[in-house]
Amino acid sequence: MKVMKFGGTSVGSASRICNVGELIKDSEPKVVVLSAMSGTTNTLVKISDSLYKGKRDEALAVIEELDAKYAGVIADLFATDEYRIKASEYVLGVMALLRSMVNEPFYTLQEKIVLAQGELMSTHFMHYHLLEIGVPNTLIPALDFMRVDKDGEPDYFYIRHNLAREIELRKAEDLIITQGFICRNNNGDVDNLKRGGSDYSAALIGQAIKADEIQIWTDIDGFHNNDPRIVEHTKAIRKLSFDEAAELAYFGAKILHPSTVSPAKMANIPVRLKNTMNPNDEGTLITHDSPVQSVKAVAAKDGITAIRIVSTNMLLAYGFLRKVFEIFEKWKTPIDMIATSEVSVSLTIDDTTHLEQITEELRKYGTMEVDQDMTIICLVGDFTSNQSANIAKVMNAMVGIPIRMISYGGIDHNISFLVKSSEKIQALTLLNNNLLNVQ
Ligand code: ASP
Ligand code: MG
Repeated sequence: MKVMKFGGTSVGSASRICNVGELIKDSEPKVVVLSAMSGTTNTLVKISDSLYKGKRDEALAVIEELDAKYAGVIADLFATDEYRIKASEYVLGVMALLRSMVNEPFYTLQEKIVLAQGELMSTHFMHYHLLEIGVPNTLIPALDFMRVDKDGEPDYFYIRHNLAREIELRKAEDLIITQGFICRNNNGDVDNLKRGGSDYSAALIGQAIKADEIQIWTDIDGFHNNDPRIVEHTKAIRKLSFDEAAELAYFGAKILHPSTVSPAKMANIPVRLKNTMNPNDEGTLITHDSPVQSVKAVAAKDGITAIRIVSTNMLLAYGFLRKVFEIFEKWKTPIDMIATSEVSVSLTIDDTTHLEQITEELRKYGTMEVDQDMTIICLVGDFTSNQSANIAKVMNAMVGIPIRMISYGGIDHNISFLVKSSEKIQALTLLNNNLLNVQ
């Protein structure tokens, strides 16, 4: 069985929903995971923010806009009264739920219920559309099997057993439709896998049913070797290893949610990235191993803060780094890059929620410098120690760009640089012109 996940732009209009219908209606057994129509989750965030702040008129106005948008989609998508009425009734229920919240006190738990509506509507549309064109399919609600534990981590056992039970109970057709992103938490309340989490849903489902392949369908021909929004003439990469893909996804390639790789890698299920607008393109295949290439790709992650702690106490001392790391652990702040000298340590974080408390505590260990608006440039390629020529090529390509930190040696296929965000475009362009486009 295959898992096929379609993102927001892939189901972003009535005609796009029809296109996806064409792609999934063959007789091959599959689970289809859908995102909300593009823009919808952002709109729902707006509604929930307004409700939270007690701005009722504002919330109501956005609900009306959403209602009108969905009425338009229904008018375009369905040809028969039967399914037009079914879809309208479903949307009517959603809008009534949202409107009912306007006059009630708003609890944080309701925020998650509001955010869940986008995926619930898109999957109902797909389910009805397929039935209308004569394609049998079963809609299995993600809220009946997708669950996170008290730490917000997937409850693998629960997901596997409950999904199997739902498939069995419903005597599901070979074509199963379900929602990405949404889940329940350990209290059974509606929750989600965080923004962009539909990819993660697909991987968790793939792992649970031991799928043959997990396909992530978006609007680009797979992972590109550089950021196509910033530089021209980027190329799709045909093969990546799980580790390379995880690195690129984490460090900024927007095509894949970074958590997606781990369940697929654990269960050794290939992940294929495909383009809904160009379905015949082979896309990118992510498996355990992939061909070695001197420099394969670059990705960039903005919003990084670098902290440098200089302390003579570090000289010849042991236990210093532990004390530093404990502070980050206490404030639940992950560290991305790290570089040390005999008297100093530099590290980067992207979550600055507790920056003030962290720096306050670090102050007792030495003097500190904090640089905000930094970018991590992550390169994937063959950087094993006997391939120093590849490292030299990268360094040469970036001549002129001031580098704040370098991370090399963590793993053979990666080298990362920290630069000021204002230097990012120039750095990516230089890498493109001097390296990726001339190989
Ligand atoms: N609809 C959700 C979002 O916009 C989840 C997803 O699309 O992956 O974040
Ligand atoms: Mg996405």
